[in-house]
Amino acid sequence: MAAAAPLYNTYNRTPLRFSHGEGVWLTTESGERYLDFAAGVAVNSLGHAHPHLVKALTDQAGKVWHLSNLYEVPGQEALGERLMRVTFADKVFFTNSGAEALECAIKTARRYHFAKGHPERFHIITFEGAFHGRTTATIAAGGNEKYIEGFGPKAPGFDPVPFGDLEAVKAAITPATGAILIEPVQGEGGIRPASIEFLKGLRALCDEHGLLLVLDEVQCGVGRTGKLFAYEWAGITPDIMAVAKGIGGGFPLGACLATEEAASGMVAGTHGSTYGGNPLAMAVGLAVLDVVLADGFLDHVRDMALLFAQGLASLADRFPDVIAEIRGQGLMLGIKAKGPSADLLVAMRNEHLLGVPAGENVIRLLPPLTITAEEVREGLARIEKAALAVRANAETKPA
Ligand SMILES: *Cc1c(COP(=O)(O)O)cnc(C)c1O
Repeated sequence: MAAAAPLYNTYNRTPLRFSHGEGVWLTTESGERYLDFAAGVAVNSLGHAHPHLVKALTDQAGKVWHLSNLYEVPGQEALGERLMRVTFADKVFFTNSGAEALECAIKTARRYHFAKGHPERFHIITFEGAFHGRTTATIAAGGNEKYIEGFGPKAPGFDPVPFGDLEAVKAAITPATGAILIEPVQGEGGIRPASIEFLKGLRALCDEHGLLLVLDEVQCGVGRTGKLFAYEWAGITPDIMAVAKGIGGGFPLGACLATEEAASGMVAGTHGSTYGGNPLAMAVGLAVLDVVLADGFLDHVRDMALLFAQGLASLADRFPDVIAEIRGQGLMLGIKAKGPSADLLVAMRNEHLLGVPAGENVIRLLPPLTITAEEVREGLARIEKAALAVRANAETKPA
């Protein structure tokens, strides 16, 4: 029987079995080491087995694992206050995943207009190429037909327009529009950063039309772009923001952040979660922020990002037959392949380097933020070998 036989067939899994990790490295059951630039799709923000995170989790594990949200949970207050201090937000709701953070964000936006006497303003403008999760509402928000087909009627109220097209956004605004939802850097869609002008334009449109600006920073947040949150690069603030992945460093944790005003409709009884804000998750979230907010950490991310991006740009110059383009921001980088990106991804894996596929024929490189300069150079050397292999393979293949 195949190893994964009891499991749903929803994933095409690569036959790699890792038993442990340390920092940027993962080791298989048979003892082979891989350089992990997938980082669990931007989840292992501080790498594997970070001592500060291990200690936070194990210390908490000896105290209390779960408390119902029927009681006060001190860890939620501590992490909430911490997030309030360093973001635009006044309020937070903790979740276990990105999709749940988005669900909370969507409900918060709709409930805001409902509470203001405008239940009809439930429409949310979204963007082509978006990814917001796999719940019935978030697949509708993402708009990818592959994820929507066969799951019954698509959840209503999501109005997609082309990414980066401000005129299209303007044209899509109607009296039923309540919010705009965007990833400042599209991840799944192929590492596509929104321009600063575009984000500023969206903020201005929201202000002009009384809309809420909802950001999905599930993948690009928590230091990934070299700022704590990507919106900081644009000098704007959202009204609502979904966060997950990197904030838990590998422990399931998400959060929906909002201004006091935007969260005003979410009164007692309107939302809930059994596990959201679990004490184990809170302990880890606080520990992640200890590291990411420490003096010099984001400078380190920006330094490593520059080194990595420069190295990738020079590989793109030398391998125009293999690499079409380098894109991204911070340590959220993408290689757009010239041929099938799957071939380059396999060649990278043969060099024991892990990346993540994305849309538009792009391979995502999302190394832990703790990566060192030496590890960046090691990664670049492996990508170079992979590019050589792809080139050699193309040369032996008949045209
Ligand atoms: C991963 C991701 C999600 C969904 O998060 P889950 O934890 O898988 O539910 C939502 N939005 C973005 C931008 C993501 O990258």
